[in-house]
Amino acid sequence: MALPGLKRILLKLSGEALMGSSPFGIDPETVASMAAEVKAAKDRGLELCLVIGGGNIFRGMAGAAKGMDRAQADYMGMLATVMNALAMQNALEQLGVETRVQSAIEMDKVCEPVIRRRAERHMEKGRVVIFAAGVGAPYFTTDSGAALRAAEMKCDALLKGTSVDGVYNADPKQDPDAVRYDSLSYDRVLADNLKVMDASAVALCRDNHIPIVVFNIREPGNLARVLAGEGVATVVGD
Ligand code: UDP
Repeated sequence: MALPGLKRILLKLSGEALMGSSPFGIDPETVASMAAEVKAAKDRGLELCLVIGGGNIFRGMAGAAKGMDRAQADYMGMLATVMNALAMQNALEQLGVETRVQSAIEMDKVCEPVIRRRAERHMEKGRVVIFAAGVGAPYFTTDSGAALRAAEMKCDALLKGTSVDGVYNADPKQDPDAVRYDSLSYDRVLADNLKVMDASAVALCRDNHIPIVVFNIREPGNLARVLAGEGVATVVGD
């Protein structure tokens, strides 16, 4: 698997990537190890921005399933992503990586609002930018937020760190015969409803020709290996 010429990437982590072995919430040790992965990627000379989900704290769909108003629950989910972003900023800065958080829901006491030109400047200066609160609207997910920011920031690829090492034709945790794809087209992902990211996020990447690289972030050193073209991953592209 080759990923030539990557200069700027967006890394999407689900909120669950921050909870370690806990059933929910933020595990500081796990956040520190994720931050170390990010630092190692940055040390390769890449410009890097991040989008982190909120599922380790709250998902709007879960609230709606229990009778909450969906939009209200989604706003709570967006706030959860801001907490995760601040936790990651803290961990990155403890490793000496300058980081700025930009939230799609303005809260100027804790972070900047999303301003593309400012984010651009931060990245040129070598800072990591964490985009929080998804697209800032209910009925979306942070996958869509990740695709949107990757397009806006003209990223060369969207790397989606998950707990499996790529995209399979069936759930590898349920089906031992599931087969992993090395590469796939956007159209195939959409037509077969493969669980890569939600359809709106995949469509946005397709329309803007942004490759999606799905890999296992839980394996230490894997992000750097995948960036070097050595790791196991599935690449979704044209
Ligand atoms: N969310 C939203 N709009 C967005 C991004 C997120 O409403 O643009 C809400 C939604 O309720 C979602 C929650 O925030 O369930 C947490 O995000 P997500 O489920 O994408 O987190 P992940 O699964 O990546 O941890």
